[in-house]
Amino acid sequence: MIETKQLWDGVLAEMELELSKANFSTWFRNTGIAKREEGTIFINVPNTFVRDWLINKYHKNILRILRNLDQEVRAIEYLISKIESREEKTKDLTFAKQINVSNLGLNDLYINKENNLNPKYTLDNFIVGSFNEVAYAAALAVMKEPGVKYNPLFIYGGTGLGKTHLIQSVGNYFKNHTIRKNVFYITSETFASDYINSVINKKANLFKEKYRKYDVLIIDDIQFVSGKIKIQEELFHLFNSYYETGKQIIFSSDKPPKFISNLEERLRSRFEGGMIVDISKPDYESRLSIIKNKIKNNNYSITDEVVEYVASIIQDSIRELEGAINTIHCQTQAKNRNLTIQEIKLLLKNSIKPQKSVSINDVMKVVADFYSIEEKILYEKTRRKEVVKPRQIIMYLLREDFDTSYPYIGQKLGGRDHTTVIHAYEKIKRDIINDKILVQELEQIRGLLYNT
Ligand code: ADP
Ligand code: MG
Repeated sequence: MIETKQLWDGVLAEMELELSKANFSTWFRNTGIAKREEGTIFINVPNTFVRDWLINKYHKNILRILRNLDQEVRAIEYLISKIESREEKTKDLTFAKQINVSNLGLNDLYINKENNLNPKYTLDNFIVGSFNEVAYAAALAVMKEPGVKYNPLFIYGGTGLGKTHLIQSVGNYFKNHTIRKNVFYITSETFASDYINSVINKKANLFKEKYRKYDVLIIDDIQFVSGKIKIQEELFHLFNSYYETGKQIIFSSDKPPKFISNLEERLRSRFEGGMIVDISKPDYESRLSIIKNKIKNNNYSITDEVVEYVASIIQDSIRELEGAINTIHCQTQAKNRNLTIQEIKLLLKNSIKPQKSVSINDVMKVVADFYSIEEKILYEKTRRKEVVKPRQIIMYLLREDFDTSYPYIGQKLGGRDHTTVIHAYEKIKRDIINDKILVQELEQIRGLLYNT
């Protein structure tokens, strides 16, 4: 039987993968297995609030993970109790460090409160491949000649592809190796809440002063200023003051400025006035080097066969890649033997996307059928509403589920421009946030495509 500590570590490792950092630390900090009575696992939680939340939201997942680890687990009970000494010691930590699933996590301890830089992010452990080499080169250029050519530096790309890592590395470089030590890193959300607080407390002037004093300012995930008019105004003036005094400013975003919605035109044109570079998804070789590098740094023992398997199935995010390796490492330790590919498949089944046994033509056909239109109308120029939506959904699915390139999608759909495809993709992505019917339709379509 696996020890309870290892069981719980396994749960944490998987939940950490599934949740945002903030969520994970909110709901899983100070949890643990209190005891086990045959098939029942008693989980310690710090208070009723966390207990109720876990029961409502994560109970099924936790049970599933526990059962995967140990088939004899039948039920979970939640006990409210403090893990006192541990709680004191680890007040500020996220669980990643306590369970040591990732030694990277350990370094979060050392995030510098003055500048929000995390020393774990350096260019030494940043793997460069064709997917990110342009962004990397632009970062080097900024390090060499800050505030001159590439101001702002605007790096965009999907989540988990290394934007934060890269811009933090640049920050660390300035702090440690140059006279421009006064670096500040912040996410646009914290920037916004900082601003709002300063207004509430009637300290807007202090806010302005504070943000203008740095040599290098790095703002992460700038897409979240979308729709926030006051914040954008503040940012606009702030940017100008940096620009005019030749001080470097760096942004990251999940999309290019052109596609950030509800963004003031003047700010958009500032973003576009410097250097815009993207980070795309890593190719197989790069994924392989990233995993190997991580294994080496952490002294994990994972076989080449497994490394190659993971690199081949996890294609979308370096964060997921790391998470998978951590999970595998954890399980290998818990089981005290190498895992079989079959076990790994099971472990990572949520990360595996439908493979291409479904063809692009299937997508067209299924969507056309679903909306009861003739397939050939999709390729025509018509802008009729009943055709536009299915067409956009096809574009969305081809991109989201198949990683098809925008130009290729455009070509497949009657020779449309790739920007049209990007628009469609972004539109559906936005719409599914609020449009429940659309979400249901997509579910049904995916069901038709993949479950047969
Ligand atoms: P993003 O900000 O784009 O969402 P992150 O910078 O947070 O992504 O990267 C996710 C994880 O992947 C981090 O742990 C980071 O260290 C790692 N990572 C990203 N890119 C690379 C790379 N090129 N080489 C090594 N590790 C990377
Ligand atoms: Mg990031």
